[in-house]
Amino acid sequence: MRIAVLGTGYVGLVAGAGFSDFGNDVVCADVDAGKIERLKRGEIPIYEPGLDRLVLANLKEGRLRFTTDIAEAVAGAEVVFIAVGTPSAADGSADLSYVIAAAESIGRALTGWAVIVDKSTVPVGTAEKVRAAVARTTTQPFSVASNPEFLKEGDALNDFMKPDRVVIGCDDERARETLHALYKPFVRTNDRVIFMDARSAELTKYASNAFLATRISFMNDMANLCERLGVDVEHVRRGMGMDPRIGPKFLFPGIGYGGSCFPKDVKAVMSTAREVGGELEILEAVHRVNERQKRRLADKIATHFGSSLRGRTVCLWGLAFKPGTDDIREAPALSIIDSLLAEGVTVHAHDPAAMGPIGALYGDRVRLFDSNYEAARGADALAILTEWHEFRRPNFERLKELLRQPLVFDGRNIWDPVEMRALGFTYYGIGRP
Ligand code: NAD
Repeated sequence: MRIAVLGTGYVGLVAGAGFSDFGNDVVCADVDAGKIERLKRGEIPIYEPGLDRLVLANLKEGRLRFTTDIAEAVAGAEVVFIAVGTPSAADGSADLSYVIAAAESIGRALTGWAVIVDKSTVPVGTAEKVRAAVARTTTQPFSVASNPEFLKEGDALNDFMKPDRVVIGCDDERARETLHALYKPFVRTNDRVIFMDARSAELTKYASNAFLATRISFMNDMANLCERLGVDVEHVRRGMGMDPRIGPKFLFPGIGYGGSCFPKDVKAVMSTAREVGGELEILEAVHRVNERQKRRLADKIATHFGSSLRGRTVCLWGLAFKPGTDDIREAPALSIIDSLLAEGVTVHAHDPAAMGPIGALYGDRVRLFDSNYEAARGADALAILTEWHEFRRPNFERLKELLRQPLVFDGRNIWDPVEMRALGFTYYGIGRP
């Protein structure tokens, strides 16, 4: 099948590579000429495990191409995906300007029937806005469908190639058959393609992300209660998660959710609710708890040092909003860095993937180190912000020698408090006595 994908970010690039790997002829287009130049050379502008091999293999076979020319990408395509950003507008609603601009450019480029598919996360009613935008710019026949993406950064290829479910919202038979044919190879053993109307599909994506964010804020609230009660939230988490009605995933307390999706999607669906005269009271609390939780670790550090924080050095291990990605959009690390810098703290940091974006944002205000141990040298405390594998079992003796004092703030509860104290560290976790 001939496919065009507009937007070569985390979603568009993974989707383009994934579809081409199943034999489709895919052209990915982006307005960012620098990104497209790099992709043409086989350079991957983001960090996502396994993506480089997939892109290179399909580039080589000629099934995957990159261009800045939207007309070239769209001409002759049966399926055109919109996978551009939908950031938060100032009022919390989703900014649809990129989606509508993409839709208009698709309309101008259509050479015959195609189904235009929203893969971006968009509010209820966007499929209709896309339909109107395309209709303004073409006389060709076309269909519109909503196909929200559920991949998670850090494991995006697995999620895309073996989806739990494929949600397709559309109301015409040709579009439905075309998209079913496209996705069938991805769900061969058990057809997990779910069809519904576009509005339901649009809300399904927000409801899913909002629910996951709710689990995280719920556990962070519980963790704070645990601290007051002298209970270890890790016992509570394990005890809860074994109930099959609850399940073990997304119950990890920490320093708040971040990333390019949960914060903006929670705000966007609250904004949608307000527009139609409703209020999502649970999500209002989820958002508030998260804002509080993002300050929690910096508060713990400040409380430990009392009035003598200025002039201290704090080392941060992990900056990305989660392991397996270089994405720092709305990462809790940003709030923590900002408050430490505001207190006059010298910040040392290491992250296996995200030092480029952090360097671009903070310049020399944050000292970045290629080695996590070197980052710890001479620091008054170490804080774990992202639970990368390589931080889970470090050489604690070496770490103790490098730190000015053996003091750790474990924002992800990756270490055992009893063991840490036995090793001579002063240990603070989240929700642990
Ligand atoms: P991103 O910011 O990484 O990439 C968006 C890309 O679109 C950029 O490269 C940008 O240059 C390009 N672009 C903007 N306008 C364009 C246009 N008119 N034509 C062509 N390209 C254009 O975004 P992302 O993280 O890939 O997210 C894309 C969408 O998918 C968002 O709505 C997001 O909420 C949703 N989503 C993201 C994830 C994720 O994990 N990142 C998961 C599921 C859904």
